[in-house]
Amino acid sequence: KRLILIGPPGSGKGTQSPIIKDEYCLCHLATGDMLRAAVAAQTPLGIKAKEAMDKGELVSDDLVVGIIDEALKKPSCQKGFILDGFPRTVVQAQKLDEMLEKRGVKVDKVLNFAIDDAILEERITGRWIHPASGRTYHTKFAPPKVPGLDDVSGEPLIQRKDDTAAVLKSRLEAFHKQTEPVIDYYNKGSIVANLPAEKPPKDVTAEVQKVLS
Ligand code: ADP
Ligand code: ADP
Ligand code: ADP
Repeated sequence: KRLILIGPPGSGKGTQSPIIKDEYCLCHLATGDMLRAAVAAQTPLGIKAKEAMDKGELVSDDLVVGIIDEALKKPSCQKGFILDGFPRTVVQAQKLDEMLEKRGVKVDKVLNFAIDDAILEERITGRWIHPASGRTYHTKFAPPKVPGLDDVSGEPLIQRKDDTAAVLKSRLEAFHKQTEPVIDYYNKGSIVANLPAEKPPKDVTAEVQKVLS
C-alpha cells in the first residue's frame, strides 16, 4: 500500500504510523524526523532547514521534495510506504505525483487526521519522544513507566524544541493555509478517508484498519 498521512501537529500521525507500518510491511518516511536528524547532524540540508523549523514555518518545497525522492529509492520502500508529514503543500503533492508516475505507481489512500485545534495544545506540550526509536509518550495520555525514560531502552526522553504553545500557533497557521488545500487536491481523486483523531488511539487504529481492509 502507498499511504499519505495528513493532519495538524499532535493529531496522532506519529503514534499510528508504527502500527500501520508493521501490519502492512511498509516503510515509514517522516519528513519531520528526517529534517531533525539533518539539523542534529548539522548537514548542509539541516543548516538550511533549521531556521524555518524553529519558527514553526515550512521549509522550502525543493528541499523536502529532494529528501523524499531520495528516500523512495530505498529497497524497503518498494513494497509500499507511509508518507507522514509529506506532502504539506499543493506544490509538494504535484511533485509527488510526478515522482510516482516515473515509477509507475500511485497513492492508494490519504488518511486525514480530523481534529479540532483546541485539543492540540495539550497534546503537543505533553509530548515526550525517544529520538532513537521515534517512540512517543504523553505525560497524561501515554505516560512512560518511569517518568522521563523510554520503556524499552531505559534511555532519556526529550521534548521537541518546537513543541511549545507559541510555536504551535505558527505550525497550525501553516497547516490551515498551506496543508489543508492538499486534502482538497486528493479529494478530487476520492482517495481521502477521514479519521476520528480526537478519539483514543485504539479507536483511531480500528478506523484505520477498517479503511485499509
Ligand atoms: P503527530 O505525529 O501527528 O504530531 P503524535 O502521534 O506525536 O502526533 O501525538 C502527539 C501527542 O499526543 C503524543 O504525546 C501522543 O502520545 C499523544 N496522542 C497521540 N494520539 C493520541 C490520541 N488518540 N489521544 C490522546 N493522545 C494522543
Ligand atoms: P508535526 O508534529 O507538527 O506534524 P513534523 O515533525 O512533521 O511536525 O514537522 C516539524 C517541522 O519540520 C515542521 O514544522 C516544518 O518546519 C518541517 N517540515 C516537516 N515536513 C515538512 C514538509 N513536508 N514541508 C515543509 N516543511 C516540513
Ligand atoms: P532515516 O530515514 O535516515 O532512517 P529517520 O526517519 O529514522 O531517518 O529519522 C532520524 C532520527 O531522528 C530517528 O531516529 C527519529 O526518531 C529521530 N527523531 C525524531 N524526533 C526527534 C527529535 N525531536 N530530536 C531528535 N531526533 C529525533
